[in-house]
Parts: sequence; structure tokens; C-alpha cells
Amino acid sequence: MKHTQLKDNHGRIINYVRLAVTDRCNLRCFYCMPEEGIQFLDRKDIMSYEEMYRLLNVLKSMGVDKIRITGGEPFVRKDIMPFLQKIKHDVMPRSFSITSNATLLHHHMEEIPKLFDALNISLDSLDPNRFHEITRRDDFRQVRDNISALIASGLNVKINAVVMDGKNIDDIIPFVEWTRNENIEVRFIEEMPFNGTRNADDISNWDYKQILGHIRTEFTELEALPYISSSTSMMYQVKGFKGKVGIIPAFSRTFCGTCNRIRITAKGELRTCLYSNKGFDLLGPMRSGISDDELRILIRDVVQKKEKNGFEAAKDRNGYIPIYESMTTIGG
Ligand code: SF4
Repeated sequence: MKHTQLKDNHGRIINYVRLAVTDRCNLRCFYCMPEEGIQFLDRKDIMSYEEMYRLLNVLKSMGVDKIRITGGEPFVRKDIMPFLQKIKHDVMPRSFSITSNATLLHHHMEEIPKLFDALNISLDSLDPNRFHEITRRDDFRQVRDNISALIASGLNVKINAVVMDGKNIDDIIPFVEWTRNENIEVRFIEEMPFNGTRNADDISNWDYKQILGHIRTEFTELEALPYISSSTSMMYQVKGFKGKVGIIPAFSRTFCGTCNRIRITAKGELRTCLYSNKGFDLLGPMRSGISDDELRILIRDVVQKKEKNGFEAAKDRNGYIPIYESMTTIGG
């Protein structure tokens, strides 16, 4: 049964959920977590497939029909494919996508192109040494091979590259060059302070203006493409190139006015904004037996407290909240 469309207290339609299926990952990207990892959740504290499935159905009944699967790294979760197929065929989202580091995709190359509308791959360098320096792992070759196989399958492939001063600035131009002959989207993301160790002040200062300026020094025929409402990415294309280039001002937070998303963490917390450190527990009430209608009321109440933007979310009474959480616990 269809229920009233979920809206927030700013009149924004909320129709997009980013669901984290795990907080674990097989890489150790330095801007996301320390080398030794973080205190990962116990198995009993993360949502079961049945609980996530129920939650997605309840959200779908409230008009949340765009689903992105995130993590950690989703494919490290055991037996994930039957769950993903169940979402596709039973929940039937209008849009179904996933964000992955592509290290494990070769195990599922048959099914993936049939399941998703788009696949976002987190890859910050096209150089094996820099890849190792950033991820602290040696999976570069496997990742590149998996990306080539996905592109060959015709799936809509998007590359997410976090821009980090002193780390991968030399990759920006080669990434854009990759769009010359490949119909892919390469999106450059401003670094965000979710690394489980330090606060906002320490992150790279390459903002979207600087990234764009740097690209324009090499590609003077970079044309802006029409903005898609609720998108976080400003899109461009170099004249004559097959692929596109995007810039996501994730720390500048210029796109919050049309925010349409909520996040569900692996432990079943509803997050109204990436920058908010407040999570509203849904799993506890679900395990204590609340009905689907009671769950809808709970979700609506929480979404009625959604922050206007990522700056408001990162603030408390005394000013800004230092952000120590790792992105792998929030789900990106
Ligand atoms: S920063 Fe928060 S309000 Fe802004 S787009 Fe992201 S989730 Fe929405």
C-alpha cells in the first residue's frame, strides 16, 4: 500500500536512501580509516538481510524508491548477492545502484550488470604506487581489470575520486583523459573529514573551484552540462570526448538545497545528513516488535528534524562538532 510521500521539514521530497550493508572493508584508505582499522560492529549489532529488506519495503511504501547500497565495502558481506536480487525483484526500486571499491567484483561479474542501473567505483589513482599509498593494499590490477570488464558489459560506470593535496593531484588530468575514449563518468570529490582520527581542519584544501581550474588548464574545451536537480555533481564534458567529468563539492556543500536523501547505517541508524553525528536507532524498535505503521511514524518524525544543510548538521550549540567518525561507519 502506498503511503504519503516522505518529505522533510524544509519541504524537500525524500525519495533516496543510501543503505550501508556493512561497516567492514578490505581496503584501508587513509582518508577513511586508520591502518589498523576501526572497532567494527559485532555481527549481532548489524542489520540482518531480513531486517534491511523490511526497512527498504517500508521506505518504498513512503515513496523512497531510489536505493544505493554502500558500506564499508558491500561485497565483503557474506552471501550478499541473493539479498541484492531480492531488492531488485521484490522491492523493485525506480533506481538501484551500488558503491564499491571494485576489488571483489570479478566474483559476480555475471549478475552485476543485470542488477544495477549504475555502479560507482571508489578509485583515487590510476598509478599503482599511489593506489597502494592511498589504500595501503595491492589490489590495483584486479580493480582495473574489473572496471574494464564492467565497462565492456555496457553498465553505467562512474568513478569516484577523492582529491587529496600532496597525494593524487597528478591523477586529475589522466582521469579526465580516460573519458576521451571511454563512456564513463569520472567524478572528483572534495575530501571530507570522516577518517576516524582527526578533525575537519586537517583535510585537503582542494575545493571544487580549484579542481575545475586545474582541469581547464589542460582541457580548455571543457563544457558545462545541464544541472540535474538533487544531484551532488556538477557535470562537464570535454568537447569530442565520449565520457563525462563531474565535480562534487562534498565539503563546500553547495547542493544541500535540493537534498533528497537519507542514510541507514549498518547498525540500523537513520542519518538525516552526512555531516550530522546524530543517528536515530530504528533497529532497536524493529527488534522490539514495532509494526510497519509505527516504523513509518518513527521515520517521518526523524525526517521532520532533517537539517537544512550540511553546515547546520555539523554544528551544535557551541559551534562546530569535531568529526572523528570514519566514513565506513556512516556509509558514504
Ligand atoms: S550535506 Fe547533508 S543536507 Fe547536504 S546534501 Fe549531503 S546529506 Fe543532504
